Amino acid sequence: LTERLQSAMSKLRRKPKVTEADLKETMREIRLALLEADVNFTVVKDFVKQVRERATGTDVLQGLNPAQQIVKIVDEELTKTMGSEAVPLNKSDKIPTIIMMTGLQGAGKTTTAGKLALKLKNEENARPMFIAADVYRPAAIDQLETVAKSIDVPVFQLGTDVDPVEIVRQGLEEAKAKHNDYVIIDTAGRLQIDEKLMNELVNIETLAQPDEILLVVDAMTGQNATETADGFNSKLNITGVILTKLDGDTRGGAALSIRAVTGKPIKFVGQGEKMTDLDVFHPDRMSSRILGMGDMLTLIEKAQQDFDEDQAKKTMDKMRENSFDFNDFLDQMEQVQNMGPIEDIMKMIPGMANNPAIKNVKVDPKDMDHIKAIVYSMTPAERENPDLLNPSRRRRLAAGAARPIVEVNRMIKQFNEMKKMMKQVSSGNMAGMEQMMGG
Ligand code: GDP
Ligand code: MG
Repeated sequence: LTERLQSAMSKLRRKPKVTEADLKETMREIRLALLEADVNFTVVKDFVKQVRERATGTDVLQGLNPAQQIVKIVDEELTKTMGSEAVPLNKSDKIPTIIMMTGLQGAGKTTTAGKLALKLKNEENARPMFIAADVYRPAAIDQLETVAKSIDVPVFQLGTDVDPVEIVRQGLEEAKAKHNDYVIIDTAGRLQIDEKLMNELVNIETLAQPDEILLVVDAMTGQNATETADGFNSKLNITGVILTKLDGDTRGGAALSIRAVTGKPIKFVGQGEKMTDLDVFHPDRMSSRILGMGDMLTLIEKAQQDFDEDQAKKTMDKMRENSFDFNDFLDQMEQVQNMGPIEDIMKMIPGMANNPAIKNVKVDPKDMDHIKAIVYSMTPAERENPDLLNPSRRRRLAAGAARPIVEVNRMIKQFNEMKKMMKQVSSGNMAGMEQMMGG
């Protein structure tokens, strides 16, 4: 989705004037991009109609920077389609807040239950408890136990021979007795929606009266994700959606369709298999990401979560002052290595999502070590002032790090580009972003 939309946008941006015909062509490409990304047909139709209506106004086409204005309209309409604002979890006035996880088999219910519990623990010092209500496969309970153990959360379970509704009833009693503030019910899924499963879920809902019934949907299933959501939503009082496996979904269609089709907010997105890979869903940030403007805010938040807070602030200040040097670079590298695969992080940087240079890039941890070796070979003065690095100094670094000179040159060039990019990003203006998008 990103690629096609972005190419439509940059084509448009190169035009000094935008004619009706250009607009028509752009709208055609946006429509194709959305359909290719498996966005629901009705949603595409409405979306294109909205954008066209707003963009056709004479103010837009004849005003300053028509292309930029159209990009802005597309951005705003994408955001609106996804629900505009982030929607927080519902909470009960009295403990426990009851959260029921629902969704097809393999959607990510159990994993996401774990991620959510960890988030609540970290952010609110909460004491969640799980109820194991998926009794159809013994392995399901073991899986929940394993997840729960890794984040130190208790599981209430009665094995596989008890009716799930009864398990939930007893589990809730236990949670009340133990004053747990959240109960997360992990339910069974099927490969398709079937009546027996739905009845069971309805019975659990009736008994537990959850504050939050979260539908967990696999983003990679495209159109089916929307159909599934519609199916669950017609039987249960779904209160929110969690879109999982967004890390593996290159098309991003589900995020756009689900809200529009079900009217239910996407509350979180899963972006990896680790327990920390759950993020609050922000429609505006997702729109930026789809448009290839990157998701700088989530990146910074991720950085703050995993980084030392002072360190993150220091880096931002340095970026702003343009005094980012090799010492910071080294710090960054070390912290970034703890954040997860570099290629995932890079995708969140504006202009990087679609940058052919890093597309499909796989960063080998060995490469990181080589880069570090080169930086370690620098003198303190060189680290602080990269401009000192003339050819003879570079040869010395190559010898010191036992790396070829071309690699040293390449690394310094990349550092300078990174620094330039950071300056643009941290100045935070749309113009900088635009420039990167176009370039
Ligand atoms: P359930 O059947 O709905 O309980 O699904 P599980 O929680 O067992 O998840 C099914 C598979 O999807 C597991 O291998 C998870 O590790 C994987 N998974 C869940 N969420 C994500 C995600 O956000 N990203 C990725 N890459 N994998 C995920
Ligand atoms: Mg499960």
